[in-house]
Amino acid sequence: MSSNLRIGTGFDVHRFAENRPLFLGGVSIPSAVGLEGHSDADVLLHAITDAVLGALAWGDIGQWFPDTDAQWKGSDSKVLFATVWRKVKEEGWHLINCDSTIVAEQPKIAPHMKSITESIAGLFGVEASRVSVKATTFEKMGSLGRSEGMVAQSVVLLEK
Ligand code: MG
Repeated sequence: MSSNLRIGTGFDVHRFAENRPLFLGGVSIPSAVGLEGHSDADVLLHAITDAVLGALAWGDIGQWFPDTDAQWKGSDSKVLFATVWRKVKEEGWHLINCDSTIVAEQPKIAPHMKSITESIAGLFGVEASRVSVKATTFEKMGSLGRSEGMVAQSVVLLEK
């Protein structure tokens, strides 16, 4: 039996900034610092969106939603993801699974992990068991270690 599978990876980085909210996976996280960006700077949703686009060789999030376009200023990354995912589903693809890692020294992600995972599963329209989110630190090394920003990395597997 043949199967039609596509895998994609996504990677995103945002700087921390004062007086900005912090959104991860579509969830608002209480934090002393937020992330800088043209949109709401949801670094995790951006990595996931790029992984989906990468799986289908559909370019990247910057091509779909240019930060030079005022239309996307302050936009909700859930809307950006949903715009892409709707088109992916229209082409007959569905999600096998999505796995992500957040790299940041702060804030503590663990208390929010369940709601982040459920939020992402909801955006994909799948059960939460298909979505994994992990978090680690950069062991205080370099720019990430100095809490200058946050990284997210994702992989998705799609099937038609
Ligand atoms: Mg981004």
